[in-house]
Amino acid sequence: MNWENISTVVTTVLYMAASVLFIRGIKLLGKADTARKGNLMSSVGMLIAVVTVLLEKEVTDTLKEAPAKNAYIWALAAIALGGAIGAVWARKVEMTGMPQLVALFNGFGGLSSLLVALTQYMTDKSINVFSSVALGLTIAIGAVAFTGSVVAWGKLSGKMFKKNITIPAKNAINGILAITGLAGVVIYAMSIGGAADLSAGKIGIIVVTAAYLILGLTMVVSIGGGDMPVIISLLNAFSGLAAAFAGLAMSNSVLVVSGCLVGTSGLILTLIMCKAMNRTLYSLLFGSFGGSAKKGAAGEQKEPRSMTVEDAYLVLEAASSVVFIPGYGMAVAQAQHAVKELCDKLEANGAEVSFAIHPVAGRMPGHMNVLLAEANVPYEQLKTADEMNPQMANTDVAIVIGANDVVNPSALTDESSPLYGMPIINAFEARTVFVLKRGKGTGFSGVENPLFTNDNTVMIYGDAKQTVASLVSEFEE
Ligand code: NDP
Repeated sequence: MNWENISTVVTTVLYMAASVLFIRGIKLLGKADTARKGNLMSSVGMLIAVVTVLLEKEVTDTLKEAPAKNAYIWALAAIALGGAIGAVWARKVEMTGMPQLVALFNGFGGLSSLLVALTQYMTDKSINVFSSVALGLTIAIGAVAFTGSVVAWGKLSGKMFKKNITIPAKNAINGILAITGLAGVVIYAMSIGGAADLSAGKIGIIVVTAAYLILGLTMVVSIGGGDMPVIISLLNAFSGLAAAFAGLAMSNSVLVVSGCLVGTSGLILTLIMCKAMNRTLYSLLFGSFGGSAKKGAAGEQKEPRSMTVEDAYLVLEAASSVVFIPGYGMAVAQAQHAVKELCDKLEANGAEVSFAIHPVAGRMPGHMNVLLAEANVPYEQLKTADEMNPQMANTDVAIVIGANDVVNPSALTDESSPLYGMPIINAFEARTVFVLKRGKGTGFSGVENPLFTNDNTVMIYGDAKQTVASLVSEFEE
């Protein structure tokens, strides 16, 4: 066996090892107690993959030629710079800033596939038709994932596109963009081979890049309310698919495997979210959900009633069943540990305590589960909306902690609401509802919540962590 063959075998084995680590890592990420190990395992897989790429014969061969001579220096500088920015950013980010950071990382994944494909287009003149189609699709999906994720980042951080923008004839515009971009891919692929018309190929590449960059924007800009989490996981899937197509275009097996893992897991999550939210993928992409957020009709507005912590304690002390309904405000307040303490006090007092977790509570999938796991709330105590809603009418007190949209009854009753059709936690059915929030802020969708003015609802204003800690103190006195 000559050196070339040995190098090919070693490369293949290392790629397989990286792929196995990715697959095992993603499996371990599925459970809170093994997630750290899964993360570490996938990171080691990624390190092996990156080092192997740099040592591949195809890469080392190019280094002998003049323009690529300094390629290692460039590659290592890029890894060091990107790694340093990522490390500082991830350390500095607040827990509440995680969702928008994840959305941006999705976008960067799409952008890097797009750039890799454009570089491949500029440097590889002996590409075949299959690879050219894969390359065109990499550009299309990478571009849509990039601009779509930037819009999602803007919406989540509140820095851009805060209000849902209604695009007239949105479906027609998106349809034209999608078809024009695909036509660009076809023009490019047809320019490959014998009678190559290279300028037509260049036009094809420019058309697909521009059309799909715009499509990402027009597709996500008008989406809001309960559809945001679903579109974010779809964009995540797109960034994986873009990487998988880039792998096909460059015949890189580890890129195909890792891209497929991200793509399929993202698609599975998207479908699970759609099911939980009572939506279809079709209605998400082509429906008019997420239109303008209407405020409650004037004249109907009642002032919510509020209560002091001391009075709330008296109600809780007498309660025999209590349901916590956490939302984004619990994450903002970092109230999960205080909530666990209150849960323990209530149980010690003889109450039966559960947690009702809505699939889109917070700002990222599983947000509440992660926070409550961190506070050691037993997994068995976390119930889905389907499990909790039938028991809600027999619940003495529902404590809504910084949740708003996920308990908004207009999702069930008001057809003009952007939330209409989204299943909610039926907090309004409990005998007494405590709503812990700082003031009159609306939720992510910007919609008023009629729950707050119901006769059985009382507001306990203040930061959720402080309010819950004060309730714990009342139990201790
Ligand atoms: P909401 O965003 O609807 O409401 C959060 C509430 O928390 C606000 O009304 C705010 O009111 C209150 N709040 C904020 N800070 C504090 C604090 N320190 N203490 C007490 N209360 C606080 O959250 P939900 O979880 O109910 O709903 C999630 C929304 O986010 C849904 O619309 C969902 O579609 C969307 N979304 C979810 C994603 C996901 O993957 N889970 C991703 C993207 C969007 P006030 O200011 O008065 O305190």
